[in-house]
Amino acid sequence: MLFSVEPKTSIKDVFGRKAEFLDFLEKLENGRRLFVITGPRRIGKTSFLYASLNEIYRMKKIPYIIVDARKVISVNAHNPGEVIAKDILKLAQGKISRTLSRLEEITVRGYGIRLRSKSRELTEILEKINEKYERAIVAFDEAQYLRFAQRDFTLLLAWIYDNLQNLVIVLTGSQVGVLEKFLRFNDYKAPLYGRYHVRIKLPRFNPSEALEFLERGFAEYNMNVPTRELLSAVKTLDGVPGWLTHYGAYRVDGLSHWDAIEKVLEEAKGYIESEFKELDELSPRYRAIMEIVATITSTQPTARRKDILNALTLREGKEIDSKDLRKYLMRLVDYGFLEHTGYGEYYIPDPVVKRVFQR
Ligand code: ADP
Repeated sequence: MLFSVEPKTSIKDVFGRKAEFLDFLEKLENGRRLFVITGPRRIGKTSFLYASLNEIYRMKKIPYIIVDARKVISVNAHNPGEVIAKDILKLAQGKISRTLSRLEEITVRGYGIRLRSKSRELTEILEKINEKYERAIVAFDEAQYLRFAQRDFTLLLAWIYDNLQNLVIVLTGSQVGVLEKFLRFNDYKAPLYGRYHVRIKLPRFNPSEALEFLERGFAEYNMNVPTRELLSAVKTLDGVPGWLTHYGAYRVDGLSHWDAIEKVLEEAKGYIESEFKELDELSPRYRAIMEIVATITSTQPTARRKDILNALTLREGKEIDSKDLRKYLMRLVDYGFLEHTGYGEYYIPDPVVKRVFQR
């Protein structure tokens, strides 16, 4: 069901994403071993990860294990290596009767991975998986949280990449969090510096996809929702699947169009705020630029770079290098918060994001 509010785990429940899935599959077949699936929150990274790995297992019999990094960090930040081993074992829940501490021999059953191991160390378990399988996928969902671990997890990832040639690493996360702050491929001091990786960017649905998503979702409940309400939902909520799904679920549960929109907007604002905090940590200028663009574009379609520069200069009370501003703008475009018209003009493509910054 499209409006089920949990992450999807089967490709048949995932709307769209065919091009991204085929890209993933093709690169995997080309022998690529490090994948980063990025996109803003609620875009469907977890759903894409589970559904794709299930499908790849079905098609190619490549087994996989997924570890939720949030769980790893929330359980025990001091010894995450062991916790991850435990989490891998948790996938086998029901199969293990004794507690981990009493186990002498552990059976690891990820999706398709069957392994008996005397070891409780993650590195040894990974080595065993590497020995046993011609190819296996080890995935970390919301991988940016691993940067809060006491051990440097990128060292572990670099070690897997360099030594365990049968393992494919797949990571998901927000672009800022996972790429800039955790993996740091461009930082020559970072363990993963320069490693070849494939980035799969999950975009928002375009308006016609978003409309079709809602139409199909309501059809699954035999609900007839007026087209003008569907169009209004698409216009207000844009193409973020998580928000469209919640809108659909609220309507199915009996809320009126505007009540459903209001509820989703409130939730969405919270998500955007928490996601933007990652950028706040890098520099307060990102937020300032977003606020400036939101203000300028409340009366005109786009904001000129020159006007953004003037407004920022006024705010900070000092001269700002226009090259610097370009760098910030490029980043905001890369993260999907802004779009560039090609004529030195910018706008906020997501109406929900725009609301957050319009004060
Ligand atoms: P993320 O991991 O990016 O935060 P999730 O995978 O948790 O996103 O998805 C958020 C919500 O949107 C979930 O309810 C999920 O079922 C739904 N969803 C996301 N992408 C799709 C899609 N392509 N098709 C159907 N539902 C989706």
